[in-house]
Amino acid sequence: MRMAELTEVQTHYGRLDLFIGGSWVKSKTDRFDHVMNPAKDEIIAEVPFTTQGEVESAIEAAHGAFGKWSELPVTARADYIFRLKQELESNCEAISKVTTQNHGKIIDEARGETRRLIENVEVGCSIAYTLAKGEHLDQVASGIDETLIRVPIGPVAVIGPFNFPSMAPFWYIPIALAVGCTVVVKPSEITPLPMQLCVKAIEEVDFPRGVVNLVHGGREVSERLIFDSRIKGVTFVGSTQVAKSIYHLAGERGKRALCQAGAKNYVLVMPDADLSTTIPALMPSFYGNTGQRCLSGANLVAVGDVYDDLKNRFLDASSKLKLGYGLDESAEMGPLVSRRAKERVLGYITKGIAEGAKLSLDGRDARVEKYPNGYFIGPTIFDEVTPDMTIAKEEIFGPVASIIRAKNLDEAISMINTGTNYGNEACIFTTSGRNARDFRRKVQAGNLGINIGIAAPMAFFPFGGFKESFFGVLHGQIDSVDFFTDKKILVSRW
Ligand code: NAD
Repeated sequence: MRMAELTEVQTHYGRLDLFIGGSWVKSKTDRFDHVMNPAKDEIIAEVPFTTQGEVESAIEAAHGAFGKWSELPVTARADYIFRLKQELESNCEAISKVTTQNHGKIIDEARGETRRLIENVEVGCSIAYTLAKGEHLDQVASGIDETLIRVPIGPVAVIGPFNFPSMAPFWYIPIALAVGCTVVVKPSEITPLPMQLCVKAIEEVDFPRGVVNLVHGGREVSERLIFDSRIKGVTFVGSTQVAKSIYHLAGERGKRALCQAGAKNYVLVMPDADLSTTIPALMPSFYGNTGQRCLSGANLVAVGDVYDDLKNRFLDASSKLKLGYGLDESAEMGPLVSRRAKERVLGYITKGIAEGAKLSLDGRDARVEKYPNGYFIGPTIFDEVTPDMTIAKEEIFGPVASIIRAKNLDEAISMINTGTNYGNEACIFTTSGRNARDFRRKVQAGNLGINIGIAAPMAFFPFGGFKESFFGVLHGQIDSVDFFTDKKILVSRW
């Protein structure tokens, strides 16, 4: 299937192939999972759980390609990556549509994801400029000079999450390729289709064989990649539980790992906030991607006397959100990614009620007439939540908001810093520079928003994360230049 054929969304994509050593390979596995369209509860493909031998072939291909790829002039590598950008640009709409079809997010959000993916490829194109900033010092001692030289670490594994099925792996792939590493990518088995398309774009560009390889599957495939000594580094985006395991397994083997993990994000609204701009910003924060975003707002903290006004206006706007199939341009929120994800969110709603939170907006019975079997849950709002409740502490990953009261900014900041083990993102809405400054300085989270509900760093900044939202030293996006390279320090006397 060539990219040109993918301008139309298909009803079934068949059994997905692997991409190993520059060729599409039919997996010999006897385990295939269904890939679903969550808005319709329809099977749209079958994903293979790659066999051990096939994972090894992918690693061998990446290993075999590394020598030549890393020896290519950096400008030649950048040229491949530039052509990949063009290929992805011309297939942006197709990738976005398939993302909506497989994940459920509305088409505008899918387009946003693909655009961010392409921006990461652009950063890959210009990596020579980053590398050229290498450190050199003449005359560190009499007649002696010192130079830092970066060298690619080797073949790397990139393991992706379901919620940003192509963008999250692309935080790493272009940079790994640009600095001279080769890649084996394993997307989520729940949403493998967008990456399948991106790898077709890689094929179109005709990268040398083995430079990028695609395998599918779950835990076993991730672990085979981590355990193989030919893989020199592992990047991971996904839940905290799995991040911990991957970090541990890699660390035991003396292998570097960069793991971006789960989240429970606080959004603070100060009494001085302008609610006419705050409320529209809260909608995508809490309900974008159906709340399945590591930067989704989850706990809405009303500071001081803004509580009632904020609650009423937030409820009003939330209750008007139009659910639907994301390929229908008028839909404002899609379904959860899977039946299991829906059940998980429903479980948290039951728990919230049991723990005494007040259910002010109940999305459990939300229906989309045309898609009665879709995994929909409407915007759901709990009121009078306290920070010790499970719904305020654990990552729900759905369109569920918990409104919490705080007396003042200090109390709200203390909730953020002590209420959960996460530290991915926190946002504040205020018209006071002083409040904003206090927030920026005191909050322990990696991505901060001031009058922004989704504080997503651009590709040329690192993607932050504190506490159990991140395991490692170097972060995603531009930071991974250092992750994918080793440093040689040259001391010379002439
Ligand atoms: P997940 O941890 O279930 O799966 C992520 C990947 O790991 C998948 O490819 C999966 O096949 C694989 N995997 C699953 N179990 C494994 C195991 N035991 N060992 C090795 N690999 C395993 O995560 P998900 O449900 O796909 O993604 C949602 C999570 O990702 C949320 O917690 C979200 O907050 C997080 N996330 C974080 C960021 C960030 O930048 N911090 C970005 C996006 C998503």
